[in-house]
Amino acid sequence: MALPTFFHNARLFDGENEAKNGMTVAVEGERIVEVAPDSEALRGAEGEHVDLGGKTLMPGMTQGHWHPDYGGLRLADVGKLYLGTQSPPSYLAAVCVENLNYAIQSGVTNVVGAACSFDNDVAMKMAIADGRIPGPRIRPSGLHINSSGNENEPNSFWLPAPPREDGMQIIGQELYADGVEGMRKAVRHQLRRKVEVIKIFPSGGHGIDYPEDMRSMTRDELATVIETAHDHGAIVRGHVTTKRHMLEAVELGMDIVDHGDGMDDEVIEAMVKHGTHYVPSMLFLKKLMPSGEGDLARSTQLQPVVRSFENLREMLPRIHAAGINIVPGDDFGLEFMMHGYGNYAEELEVYVNDCNIAARDVLTWATRNGAKMMGLGNDGGLIQKGRLADLIVVDGDPLADIGILRRPLETLDLVMVGGKTYKDRLARV
Ligand SMILES: [Zn+2]
Repeated sequence: MALPTFFHNARLFDGENEAKNGMTVAVEGERIVEVAPDSEALRGAEGEHVDLGGKTLMPGMTQGHWHPDYGGLRLADVGKLYLGTQSPPSYLAAVCVENLNYAIQSGVTNVVGAACSFDNDVAMKMAIADGRIPGPRIRPSGLHINSSGNENEPNSFWLPAPPREDGMQIIGQELYADGVEGMRKAVRHQLRRKVEVIKIFPSGGHGIDYPEDMRSMTRDELATVIETAHDHGAIVRGHVTTKRHMLEAVELGMDIVDHGDGMDDEVIEAMVKHGTHYVPSMLFLKKLMPSGEGDLARSTQLQPVVRSFENLREMLPRIHAAGINIVPGDDFGLEFMMHGYGNYAEELEVYVNDCNIAARDVLTWATRNGAKMMGLGNDGGLIQKGRLADLIVVDGDPLADIGILRRPLETLDLVMVGGKTYKDRLARV
């Protein structure tokens, strides 16, 4: 049996509380086996010993809105072609491998899928488990489940599309179905393929050129999707932006609100009551603002985007104060916000700098809250004895300057997922 590894002299951020200096954390197998103040006894214990010299040891982070196969997707193409048809399937799989490597080398130890083409999330999860490629733990998603004619139907309806089979149509990342029976079949089609996160589009908005008040799923369709997923232990997340659509989906038990541009106090109250997770993904909106790199790509959407960004800036501290489980995660892989070393931390900075949330709280969203949304329960997200050893070591103090997480090639010294090491440049003593 492998001996434990002791990390001494850590500045410990456990995922929740004030950081503490002079701490020792020990890892054995896949778990954390000790968290205690430095002591001679621990330094003398049998095992491997590392002196962190005051570097920060903290839980690994979660990216809560993961598109594994986006690798430079042009916003101008969204709405013109079906997502997932921009490249051949095996090319997209190569993009996944590249993106998973960026994530793990950026300190992201968990990702929660928000849709992918083919079976990419599930297949990558298998390849990581078999040790073929490096990558974080994945809670896999699958295809967008859409009703016909929703915002994920390209405008070019005159081009040939594959025939419907068994009432469903699958093109790239999109699955189209209609009616209660159609939705049940669509969800079961995904569940059979080991998808654990069903992604739906109850409304438009959030930069998507589509009337925000248009309702793309009936109440019965929505209820069927949620019930069918829950029957199998899967969860449902929805791109949903208007108050009316949010309230309906939350009350029916949808698990994750994505974006939520039109958030208000009534929606907050409903989310608290139902324990709904929230993924704001505000970096995307910020990038579409007149000052951002993505601006003008969607001129008709500029005003709604500005309105959404300003509303969420105001609401986010209230959503946080209400105790909603907020998790960072954004549409990385679009042309102006690529997956890449440290890019995920750019989103964290938005919450600190634009929304006035304390860095420690944002890091709690990314660690403790992320693990909850991963479904790890009390098994991840915090540096505590008995929990999974998902941890990173940062040379510097991200609680004082969250921006250092944008330079992982320089500042990240250790990345560990369930005791398995993906990066380690720390010297043993
Ligand atoms: Zn997305």
